[in-house]
Amino acid sequence: MTTYLFPPPAIASLPIRGKTERLAVNRLFFVGRNYHAHALEMGKSVDKSAERPFYFTKAPQTLTQSGATMTYPSETKNFHFEMELVLAIGAPGFQVAAQDAHKIIYGYGAGLDMTRRDLQLLARDKGRPWDLGKDVEQSSVCSEIVPMPGVVIEDAGIALEVNGQTKQNSNVDKLIWNIREIIADLSLFYHLQPGDLIYTGTPEGVGAVLPGDKITGRVDGVAEVALTIGAAQ
Ligand code: MN
Repeated sequence: MTTYLFPPPAIASLPIRGKTERLAVNRLFFVGRNYHAHALEMGKSVDKSAERPFYFTKAPQTLTQSGATMTYPSETKNFHFEMELVLAIGAPGFQVAAQDAHKIIYGYGAGLDMTRRDLQLLARDKGRPWDLGKDVEQSSVCSEIVPMPGVVIEDAGIALEVNGQTKQNSNVDKLIWNIREIIADLSLFYHLQPGDLIYTGTPEGVGAVLPGDKITGRVDGVAEVALTIGAAQ
């Protein structure tokens, strides 16, 4: 039997609606700039005919279950919410054709890609990695995963409120690269595995939160997500 000097890290996981088993989470992928109106509010535009999607990753240890209170992170003065549809992979897939993408979909969740915006933009504008802005402890928030095997979501309202006030309100039909295209493209680079989560990008309306704020969000027909911002450490 293998023994370890230090206890191995806990397996990141999420509840699954209607099941007692949890979803063991493997990798966390995030699509950047996948709604035109959000790209524009970030000062960028996307020309789908000339560009491919891009991605960043976060450590699975950043996964936080909906309903939690997260510590307001250190080293930021501009901590932002991003409401996203989260796709859960349920079968191995490499170089998956878009028309076959549904075959590796397990289900979906409602997620938040919490971001140190000041550090992300500083890194972006200096050509540095985004890790300090994006790979923030506790920043990958997700609801329970809703089993929808083989279902490709093409049209669903996506919305977020802070303290009950609407900040984001859009539809996943505005994704620049849709679910099939994301799976096809990302699987050119990675051997996708069951338990991989793909955060599909945020619509416009992102903004800052402060300790004490309560975030609620949803993807219609999928799930709701909630997060309370706690005090700074
Ligand atoms: Mn995002």
